[in-house]
Amino acid sequence: MEDCIFCRIRKGEIPSEILYKDDDFMIIKDINPQAKIHLLAIPTKHVPYIDMLDDAGASLLGKIMHKVSKMQKQLGLTNGYRLIINQGEDGRQAVKHIHIHILGGERLSEF
Ligand code: 5GP
Ligand code: ZN
Repeated sequence: MEDCIFCRIRKGEIPSEILYKDDDFMIIKDINPQAKIHLLAIPTKHVPYIDMLDDAGASLLGKIMHKVSKMQKQLGLTNGYRLIINQGEDGRQAVKHIHIHILGGERLSEF
């Protein structure tokens, strides 16, 4: 989608530190980190909200989580991490393109 930040990063129109990229998704560094390590796993296909995902898109979220677990050391996540999806208005989702926050690199606060 033309005016979507994450689609524009994917196309190389906006610079970003991309740590991993394949046809299905990419992992980038968040521009405003909320932990020592704050990454975003972003599916390639522009889908704004989780309830708009088809079966393949829903499966992809599981695959991404599994891939992150396989890549944890490579990503610097040596002692655990937290995955978060902000969904919709109450979830304070700012970018309307589904993404998974990956937080770690330190002991995170309880919530
Ligand atoms: P949300 O609130 O939608 O779950 O999170 C959006 C995230 O995208 C925020 O953590 C924000 O810092 C990050 N973000 C917004 N614009 C950019 C950008 O241009 N580049 C990168 N790398 N991250 C961004
Ligand atoms: Zn998009």
